[in-house]
Amino acid sequence: MSETLRPFPEAAHEALENAQLRANLRRATDTIREKRARVVRELPDWEALREAGRALKADVLANLERYLLAFEAAVTAAGGQVHWAADAAEANAIVLAIARAHAVSELVKVKSLTTDEIGLNEALEQGGVHAVETDLAELILQLDGDWSSHILVPAIHRNRTEIRDIFRATIADPSLSDDPAELAEAARRYLRERFLTARMAVSGANFGVAETGTVCVVESEGNGRMCTTLPDVLVTIMGIEKLIPSFADLEVFLQLLPRSATGERMNPYTSLWTGVTPGDGPQEFHVVLLDAGRTRVLADEVGRQALHCIRCSACLNVCPVYSRTGGHAYGSVYPGPIGAILTPQLLGIEHAPTLPFASSLCGACYEVCPVKIDIPSVLVHLRGEAVAAAGRPPERAAMRALEWAFAGPRRFRVAQALGRFAQRPFARGGVIGRLPPPLSAWTRSRDLRALAPETFRQWWERRP
Ligand code: SF4
Repeated sequence: MSETLRPFPEAAHEALENAQLRANLRRATDTIREKRARVVRELPDWEALREAGRALKADVLANLERYLLAFEAAVTAAGGQVHWAADAAEANAIVLAIARAHAVSELVKVKSLTTDEIGLNEALEQGGVHAVETDLAELILQLDGDWSSHILVPAIHRNRTEIRDIFRATIADPSLSDDPAELAEAARRYLRERFLTARMAVSGANFGVAETGTVCVVESEGNGRMCTTLPDVLVTIMGIEKLIPSFADLEVFLQLLPRSATGERMNPYTSLWTGVTPGDGPQEFHVVLLDAGRTRVLADEVGRQALHCIRCSACLNVCPVYSRTGGHAYGSVYPGPIGAILTPQLLGIEHAPTLPFASSLCGACYEVCPVKIDIPSVLVHLRGEAVAAAGRPPERAAMRALEWAFAGPRRFRVAQALGRFAQRPFARGGVIGRLPPPLSAWTRSRDLRALAPETFRQWWERRP
């Protein structure tokens, strides 16, 4: 995540032409959305839990330095080693150096957005170390040379037949069917061998507990548990915002996360580890604490709430934009509403100026967010920054003209009369379907309601 992203409208246009993608997305997001709504309704204190999650995250961000130092001290006291990485290159170099120190040429990985964000697999490959993704969906994408389009269901854009073809071409024989049990078995056979021979694993972290130095990873398949227990060396890459103050606070997040993510009451696998335990699990443990733009996000009082995110993906599943375009249109590992506010801040608004506009501002994302991130407000804030950064003379001129017209009743009446006159060649049946440039940018994808033949004031004045 470093270069300037492709404009969202352009990428979205391409995605919208893929009917298969839209059908896959609709099926998957509809199912998860309904499951989530059902299990959330079961909890009478859901709103209190959300507020607790929000307050805990806000506390961590307000006192980040203190919590980070406490976490470092606790990890070190428990036999772990802590590394600090200012950016992706530093984090990747640390992991590669650890692999080289142990003469490792292949390692296993737990699904992790943070490692995708920093391009860890590619950096390791260049350094002669192959990283094997062990999450089923991540494995499918890795075998196909594809990348994730959903935070939680990375291969949401692939259906069974496509997966069968990918497996046939890579890890299974041509007799493999598209039966889900057979597909899972093929992946299991392939991965089991990797788990049993791997000497090093890399994970991300859902939460890091400042009080105890504990790392928590939640998952559904058990592959993560294999990675965090079988190899001799374990490296965890964790964004500095992933901390929570105390072990007891997990009680809040372990209720919020599974319900919001997969619509389950609890995760099938919740792994917790603290440093090194002699004779049990990895005997060497490293944590890489990653900044990579996060302190810049923290400096923005409105935008910093994006760092509260616990990556549940509930906002993706309710978003009318995401559910039609899918994740690839967002151009980063963080798609959907959270991607629209996090990516421009991590990269700098000049590198992703169209993402804050990839929203209808309907507010559905805010309503489902388990840590109450006010995504619409951050979107509006970032839109302001994007316009200011780009200059956009036509938009500024239009806003100035509107400001002038709204400043007095006479001006407003004149503007309305001029508007009604100007729309004559374009208005049909109360709707304007096509306008000349630069206004065509609006009508290219939606209609504009024409000005009414009579204003409310005119109607009021001519009443008997
Ligand atoms: S912004 Fe909220 S709803 Fe979206 S992924 Fe993050 S925590 Fe979940």
